[in-house]
Parts: sequence; structure tokens; C-alpha cells
Amino acid sequence: MSGMKFTCYRCIHCCFFAGSPDYPILTESDYRRLKKIATQRGINLKFRRMREGLYQWVIEGFCPFYDVKKRGCSIYNYRPSSCRMFPLLLNPSTGEVSVSLLCDWVMENFSKLREASNPAEVFPEEFKAVISVFKYIKENQTQ
Ligand code: SF4
Ligand code: SF4
Repeated sequence: MSGMKFTCYRCIHCCFFAGSPDYPILTESDYRRLKKIATQRGINLKFRRMREGLYQWVIEGFCPFYDVKKRGCSIYNYRPSSCRMFPLLLNPSTGEVSVSLLCDWVMENFSKLREASNPAEVFPEEFKAVISVFKYIKENQTQ
């Protein structure tokens, strides 16, 4: 499947969280950056530490940084790695990469996507974020 490329529809689904499996995974720098922004904005965020240098961001409902009126992220340039890679998902325990079925674009292109052999071509920017977090996890495991 050549030439197929992901386009975000700004459908909001990736900024609304219904439960724990969907919570974003954060690296240490994501975690620190979000905490700093939250303090500046007077927002209270909740995190779960998964292991050294890896956190889960607990969000119930809309992300506090989601601008409902503008239908966009209010910290776009500072958003964490999980948001940069979405609709790709990285399982930090197994290294497995999957695609989120919450994403409107994924669902619309699902049958074509199953034939795509190279996710890096379909999701170039998102795949870069996956690789960067994957490397980070590997480096932290060997420390
Ligand atoms: S940080 Fe931005 S992109 Fe990530 S969930 Fe929140 S609003 Fe969405
Ligand atoms: S769910 Fe998919 S199409 Fe919708 S805003 Fe998120 S990445 Fe874009």
C-alpha cells in the first residue's frame, strides 16, 4: 500500500480518556515538563509511576490541556511522547507497536492499513516518536 499517509481529522478521541488502558505513557522528561506546565497553569495532574523513569498519566474524561472550543491541544509543542505517536501505541513492556482503534482515521482506513507493510511510511512523524520512546525504554532497562 504505497502513498497512504495518516492525516489527523481532529476528531478529539485521542484527548478523551475512558479508562486505564488508554492513559498516556510518559518518559521522565514528559513527566517533568507536564508537571511544570501544570504548576504554571494551576492545574492538578495525577500520575502513576510504572517503573524507574516511566509513568502513566491518569486522565479521566477530557485531557485538562484539551481546548474544547478550538478542538486542539493547548500545549501542542510540549505534548508528551504518547500524544506525538498517536494513533500508534507502544506497549512499554513488550515493545509491541499497535494502532489505536479509537482513532477515526484508523477506523476509516482499517482494511487498507492491514495491507500496509511499513508503518513508518504511513505514520512518519508518529513512528519517530515511537522509536524515540522505545530507545529511551531500552536505555533505561540497561542502566
Ligand atoms: S496533551 Fe494535548 S494531545 Fe495530549 S491528550 Fe492532552 S490535549 Fe490531547
Ligand atoms: S483520534 Fe486520530 S484522527 Fe482523531 S484527533 Fe486523534 S489522531 Fe486525529
